[in-house]
Amino acid sequence: MTQHFDLIAIGGGSGGLAVAEKAAQFGRRVALIDPGKLGGTCVNAGCVPKKVMWYAANLAAAVGDAPAFGVRAQSDGLDWPKLIAGRNAYVAAINGYWDGYVERQGIQRFTGSARFVDQRTVAVGEQRLSADHIVIATGGRPIVPRLPGAELGITSDGFFALETQPRRVAIIGGGYVGVELAGVLRAFGSEVTVVALEDRLLWLFDPLISDTLRENMEAEGIRARPQFEVAGLERDDSGLALLARDGERLGGFDQVIWAVGRAANTRELDLAAAGIEVLPNGVVPTDAYQNTNVPGIYAVGDITGRDPLTPVAVAAGRRLAERLFDGKPDARLDYDNIPTVVFAHPPLGKVGLTEPEARERYGDTLTIYETSFTPMRYSLAAHGPRTAMKLVCAGPEERVVGIHLIGDGVDEMLQGFAVALKMGATKADLDATVAIHPCSAEELVTLKVPVRRPGES
Ligand code: FAD
Repeated sequence: MTQHFDLIAIGGGSGGLAVAEKAAQFGRRVALIDPGKLGGTCVNAGCVPKKVMWYAANLAAAVGDAPAFGVRAQSDGLDWPKLIAGRNAYVAAINGYWDGYVERQGIQRFTGSARFVDQRTVAVGEQRLSADHIVIATGGRPIVPRLPGAELGITSDGFFALETQPRRVAIIGGGYVGVELAGVLRAFGSEVTVVALEDRLLWLFDPLISDTLRENMEAEGIRARPQFEVAGLERDDSGLALLARDGERLGGFDQVIWAVGRAANTRELDLAAAGIEVLPNGVVPTDAYQNTNVPGIYAVGDITGRDPLTPVAVAAGRRLAERLFDGKPDARLDYDNIPTVVFAHPPLGKVGLTEPEARERYGDTLTIYETSFTPMRYSLAAHGPRTAMKLVCAGPEERVVGIHLIGDGVDEMLQGFAVALKMGATKADLDATVAIHPCSAEELVTLKVPVRRPGES
C-alpha cells in the first residue's frame, strides 16, 4: 500500500529538515527520508565537528601565547581521544535533539535510501510513499578521484573518524575544507603540507585574502604547494607519498587527506524514473524557486550545485515551504550577497564581489580601501598572524559591493557588515558609524585613503 503525504523531503540534512519542519508547522502531512543520522553533513561530518575542533585548536594556540602575557600556562599536548569523544557526544546530542523534534512536529520518518518510482512516488525499501510535493535534498559526498593509489588517502569523512592524531599529513586541495583541516592539524602540532592544483589557495576569494592566508599559513609552519597536480599516491618505507603529474614526489606522510570537492548524491535516486533533469556532475538544476524540470518536484541545498552552505540549504527549504503552503507565491531565496566564512587560523570571510568580479561588473568605477596589520591580540606575543581587510566600493556614491576579511574575530564580525551590504550601505554610511575601540572591526569604519580610485587598477 502506498502512503500519501502533502510533502516528502528526501534527505534529513540542513535542507530536508528545514523544508519538512516548516511544512509540518503549516499543518501539512510530511514524510522525511534519510538512511543515516539526522542532521546530514553539517551535523555529522561538516560544520559542527569541524568547529568543535577549531575551538580546540584556538585554545591550543592561546596557551602557546599565554606566557608572553604573564599567564603561567603550559600545554601538555593534545588528548586527541578525549577531544574526539567530547565532540562525538556533542554531535550525538544534536542527533538526539533532531530525533525528538521531528517526532514532536508530527513528521513521519523513514530510515533508508529513497528512489523515485514515478513523478509522485518514491520507494524506501519495500515501502511506497507518494506526495503532491517532493523535495530532493540529498546533499553530497567527498570526491576521491580515480587515480592510482587514491584509496590510500582518506576524505573529510575519514578525518572525522580518526582515532589518533596523524603526525605528518598531506592535504590535497586548497579549497575551504583543505584549508580548515590544515589549520586545525597544525595548531595541534602536526606537520602539514597542502597541495593545490590552482596557483593560490582559496582561489575564489579576493587576492588580498588568499595572499594573506598563505602568508599566515606559512608563518604557522604549514607548507603550501600550489600548482601541484597529483597523479597518484604510493606507500613506501617512509610512509605515503604524493606523485605529481610532472614527476615530482612528496613523501613521508602518515596520512593523506583528499579535499578536492564534493559530488552530488544522485546515484541512488533513480531520477530518470521521474524524468528529472540531472547534469553530468550529478547536480539537479533548479530555477530561482527551487523547481526542477518536473512540476511538483523541487531541489534544495548542495544537490543544486549553488553556494554549498548550511544556511543556504536551510533558507531555501524554508522559503520553499512558505511558497507551497503559506500563501506566499513569490517566496524564494535571494542568492545574491551570501556571506561565507572559512574557519582557518585565523578565520577569513567575504560577502559580495571580489575586486576582480567587481571590475567585470562595474568596470572603472571602483574605489578600493584596504588595510593590513597585526592585531592587538598579539601585542606581547612573539608572533602574530596578519589581519587584512578590503572594501570594494562601486560608482560615484561608493556603494559597498564587497567586504573581504581575514584575521582574528572576522568570523563574528562579518555577519553584521553583511546586513549593511545587503541593505545597500555606502562608504559614507560606514564613515558615519562611530568606531568601537580598541578592536579590529573598527578599521572597517575608519578606512580613509583609497588604495585604488576610479580609473586605476
Ligand atoms: P546534507 O546536509 O549533506 O544532507 C543530505 C542528506 O541526504 C544526508 O543526511 C544523506 O544521508 C541523505 N541522503 C543521501 N542520499 C539519500 C537518498 N537516496 N535517500 C534519502 N536520503 C539520502 N557549511 C557551512 O555553512 N558552514 C561550515 O562551517 C561548513 N563546514 C563544512 C565542513 C565540511 C568538512 C563539509 C564537508 C561541509 C561543510 N559545510 C559547511 C557545508 C554544509 O555541511 C552543507 O552545505 C550542508 O550540509 C548542505 O545541506 P544539504 O541539506 O544540502 O545536504
